[in-house]
Amino acid sequence: MDLLDKIKNKLSHFKNFYDVIRIIDPISSNVINTSTNDDKNSIEPILCYKFWNKNEQCKNCIALNAYLKKDTFIKIELKESKIFLIIATPVEYNNKLYIVELLKDISTNIFLTDNSNNITAKELMSTINESLYKDELTGAYNKRLIYEKLNKLLLKETNNLPISLLVIDLDYFKDINDLYGHIIGDNVLKDFSSVVFSCLRESDLFGRFGGEEFVVILDNSPIKNAKKIAERIRKTVEAHLFEYNGLIINLTCSIGGYTIYDKKISDNEFLTLADKNLYIAKNSGRNTSLITSEK
Ligand code: GH3
Ligand code: MG
Ligand code: MG
Repeated sequence: MDLLDKIKNKLSHFKNFYDVIRIIDPISSNVINTSTNDDKNSIEPILCYKFWNKNEQCKNCIALNAYLKKDTFIKIELKESKIFLIIATPVEYNNKLYIVELLKDISTNIFLTDNSNNITAKELMSTINESLYKDELTGAYNKRLIYEKLNKLLLKETNNLPISLLVIDLDYFKDINDLYGHIIGDNVLKDFSSVVFSCLRESDLFGRFGGEEFVVILDNSPIKNAKKIAERIRKTVEAHLFEYNGLIINLTCSIGGYTIYDKKISDNEFLTLADKNLYIAKNSGRNTSLITSEK
C-alpha cells in the first residue's frame, strides 16, 4: 500500500521516533502493511496482536479506540522483556479509515521518576495496563472493556452469531450496606464476582458495569445457552454461603438478557434490551432471570 510510503516520507526527519510502523484495520485486526525504520519491509504476522505474542486481541485495543474515537492514543505494551511505546492515529485513505501505529522499543529509554519501591518498569507497566481494563475491587473487566468487546463483536464482519448479553443486578444490595456497612458490602461484591467467574468459561467475558451491576457477554451463544448460564449463575449465587467472621449473608441476584441473531444493533441498544428484561425480572419478585431474543 503506498499509504505506508507516504507516511514514511512525511516522517523521514523523525526516524528515531519509531522502530516499526504499521497500518491496521482494527475491525478485522489485520495488519495491512508494515515496515521497520531501516526501510526493511518486514514480514509481520497478519493479525496485529501476534506481534505481542498474543493469541487473542489485546484488552484495551489501542487501534480500535483510535478508530472509534477518531483520535490519537498512546499505550505501553510488553513484548518478552522489552517495553514498547505505541502511538496509534487514524488516517483516512481512499475514503476508508485506517489506523497507523508507530512502535518504539523504549526498554532502555524510559525514566521512572520514583523507583523507591523497587518496582521494575515492566511490573509497573503491567499494573498500569491491567488497571485500564480491570475493576480493581472484583477483578472483573471494567465498563470500558465491556464497550470495547461489544463493539468488536458487533462490528466484526465474520460470522460469530448469535451473541448473548446478560445484565446482572444484586437484589436489595443497599440493605446489605445499610445493615453491615460498606466494607462487608465490598467483600460481598468481590465474592459474588468469584462465584460468577466459577460459572463461566474462559471465553465468556464478565465485567462490572458499575456499582452492583455486572455484565456477561457470551460470544457464539444461542438463547438456550444464555438461559442455561443465567440460571446457573442465579442458582449458584443463591446457594453460595457468603460468610464474614461468622456473619452469614443471604444474597440473590436478578438477571436480564438478550440474544441477537443479526448485528443491526448498537452497543447501547443491545444493553437497553437486556436491561428491559432485568427490569421485568426485578418487578416479578427478584432472584429470577429473563432472557429473550428477536425470534
Ligand atoms: P434492587 O433489588 O432493586 O436492585 O435493590 P438494591 O438495593 O440493590 O438497589 P439500589 O440501586 O437501590 O442500591 C444499590 C446499592 O449499591 C447502592 C450503593 O450504595 C451500593 N453500591 C454501589 N457500588 C458499591 C460499591 O462499590 N461498594 C459497596 N459496598 N456498595 C456499593
Ligand atoms: Mg443497581
Ligand atoms: Mg440492586
